Amino acid sequence: MYRSMLLFLLPIVVVTSCQEDIATEESDLSNVNIPSSLTPYFETFKEKALEYNIAVDYESENVTAEIKLINEGTVAGSCTTNGHDIKHIVIDQSFWSQASHLVKEMVVFHELGHCVLGRGHREDSFSNGICRSIMRSGLGECRDAYIAENRDYFIEELFVVSE
Ligand SMILES: [Zn+2]
Repeated sequence: MYRSMLLFLLPIVVVTSCQEDIATEESDLSNVNIPSSLTPYFETFKEKALEYNIAVDYESENVTAEIKLINEGTVAGSCTTNGHDIKHIVIDQSFWSQASHLVKEMVVFHELGHCVLGRGHREDSFSNGICRSIMRSGLGECRDAYIAENRDYFIEELFVVSE
């Protein structure tokens, strides 16, 4: 029941979108680590995944990340992957410097959804216009409402895809 009752109490002013890239050439990411400012979000993702019986090991899965200027409109993050040994997340520096904790979490979880869970985009919405998934591209019609009251729903949706 609560699934159709998502709240949108606060206007979400940060519009973020995402870029998915397929790694075409071998990039040497062996010296790239996960930046310490991203670590708490990666750890929370790992803990939440475990609640849904999904074991995440960034090291053995070759997940790398960096924060740098993307400079492409509303693109806040990207996941570049070839599906196995390259899983690289980039978070936009200017987005990161001004986003709230929850919006940062949404964007990091979104990119991990691509790079770690192998999920694609999902653009459908509830009748009130709220996106059903944080895996929305950010380029569609639906609106984000990743607020504290809705967080549990969106995290469940991320790990347990339901229609
Ligand atoms: Zn995306």
